[in-house]
Amino acid sequence: MTVAEAVRAASERLAATSDTARLDAELLMAHALGMARSDMLVRAMREAVPSTFEALIERRIAREPVAYILGKQEFYGRDFLVTRDTLIPRGDSETLIEAALGCACPAPRVLDLGTGTGALLITALLEIEGANGIGIDASPAALEVARANAQAHGLIGARARMLLRDWHKQDWRDDLGTFDLILCNPPYVETSAQLDPDVRDHEPASALFAGPEGLDDYRVLVPQLRDLLNDGGVAILEIGAAQGDAVSEVAKNCGFSAEIRPDLAKRPRAVIVR
Ligand code: GLN
Repeated sequence: MTVAEAVRAASERLAATSDTARLDAELLMAHALGMARSDMLVRAMREAVPSTFEALIERRIAREPVAYILGKQEFYGRDFLVTRDTLIPRGDSETLIEAALGCACPAPRVLDLGTGTGALLITALLEIEGANGIGIDASPAALEVARANAQAHGLIGARARMLLRDWHKQDWRDDLGTFDLILCNPPYVETSAQLDPDVRDHEPASALFAGPEGLDDYRVLVPQLRDLLNDGGVAILEIGAAQGDAVSEVAKNCGFSAEIRPDLAKRPRAVIVR
């Protein structure tokens, strides 16, 4: 069997459980071949199928996300390492980067709350000239991934620091200082939500669930933004599509203005807090 035939057969098998069956099959085949997907499509389609391919497809059929199988995910045009300790960066979260580019001051000091892979902080620092900042996370294993990503993108040291902090504990803000731009993709899924098995059985629950309404972490964090933001600073919070009004209200009750930003699918995806 050739690579082309095997990719076609695998995408038919994956179609029952994946919305991106063809892409999944191509990415897993490229991984088995040890090639970039674009190179594979141009020059490997008639080669023999590597023996490791079938096991990768079986993992995907068992609903393991492609990003965990590959150990990486693209975000805003760059690759990031991911492990089971980190949420997989999603295209939806690029909305926060777009919003940040529109409202960051020159050379901002940036804080990423719940940094996970570090994708939001690292992307912001690479896209905004002169930016430097801190990513915090409550998971030591996630921080190792974030540090590896910062290093891989040439940022560790003065420009990016990754710190172990848990905003459910006292004194988590001690010595962080204040910031011009705060990014945050907190857990925001309702505890009772019916998630896809790909997400539910594989991604870290601590990065997903936030109480009966999915609002617990906003209620903890938003009142503290006053102590974390510089004058004129801005916080950009990711939200679930149905949470725009509720999160805006939490912000307004703390004396902030709140503006809802949609994602590419035109669903509410971020709240800009000033
Ligand atoms: N967007 C994610 C999902 O629906 C949730 C991410 C989060 O809770 N921060 O799977």
